Amino acid sequence: MNIIVCLKQVPGTTKVNINPETNTLMRQGIENIINPFDAYALEEGVRLKERYGGKVTVISMGPPQAEAALREAISLGADEAILIGDRAFAGADTLATSYTLSRAIKKIKDFDLVICGRQTIDGDTAQVGPETAEMLRIAFVSYVSKVEEVKEGLIQVHRLIEEGHETIEATLPALITVVKEINVPRLPSLRGKAKAKSAVIPTWTAQELETDPARVGLTGSPTRVVKIFSPQRTRTGEVLQGSPEEQIDSLIKKLRGSQLI
Ligand SMILES: Cc1cc2nc3c(=O)[nH]c(=O)nc-3n(C[C@H](O)[C@H](O)[C@H](O)COP(=O)(O)OP(=O)(O)OC[C@H]3O[C@@H](n4cnc5c(N)ncnc54)[C@H](O)[C@@H]3O)c2cc1C
Repeated sequence: MNIIVCLKQVPGTTKVNINPETNTLMRQGIENIINPFDAYALEEGVRLKERYGGKVTVISMGPPQAEAALREAISLGADEAILIGDRAFAGADTLATSYTLSRAIKKIKDFDLVICGRQTIDGDTAQVGPETAEMLRIAFVSYVSKVEEVKEGLIQVHRLIEEGHETIEATLPALITVVKEINVPRLPSLRGKAKAKSAVIPTWTAQELETDPARVGLTGSPTRVVKIFSPQRTRTGEVLQGSPEEQIDSLIKKLRGSQLI
């Protein structure tokens, strides 16, 4: 079973600054991590490989530093990794990202299953999985919490819904997005770390993917972030002093003064 895992490197903190002119993240000096949901996607890919044989290929579209996330994925059990990187891909929205990922998946060609995380913790749109499946014209199941079985060209999964689970069967090749309930990701092994260190990670550019220039990067992105900002705090708190009785008196006076009671 040949599995492709889509993995994004994201800032490992919520304390990021936004460039006020371009409305994009300022990533300098920030520690990057594998998007947490993608760690579950990778773990599920490795478990399915252990169960059914085959291999796991991890792909990531991103800047050169995303190679570190791909090496980490190899230490966690992936067999191969490919960085999808080209200046032409910069500024991509989810549509352009999905198009580019789908081109890379088509180039890999021989695959049964694509696994994505449910969403990222930076872009947070949860659009890339379904959009990529649509561009590949393959079956898609979101919120997968368990892979029950893969048999005779079909995959049977449990899908998390508000008040329980659905059991869904889809024809392969398919793309699934996974939730954290699906597994507990493993830690890297010593052997895995050694393999990751020496692994050759190719970079696939726009030329190699034969992408349509009008569909990648900023040019291929029909959406723009117009403004991004943290909400301003307009309320200030006040800690009341004195005994509990005094604090209650003082609170009642304040509320009467503000005509709330
Ligand atoms: C309106 C808009 C405009 C944007 N403009 C810019 C911009 O100008 N510059 C810029 O840098 N970013 C921009 N972005 C962010 C960029 O679109 C996203 O980083 C990217 O498309 C992934 O979307 P997401 O993070 O919401 O992923 P989600 O859809 O939440 O991710 C779901 C899953 O898809 C897979 N996945 C997502 N991204 C990748 C990837 N790159 N490689 C491999 N797998 C992946 C992962 O498995 C992930 O768990 C913009 C986003 C939006 C919504």
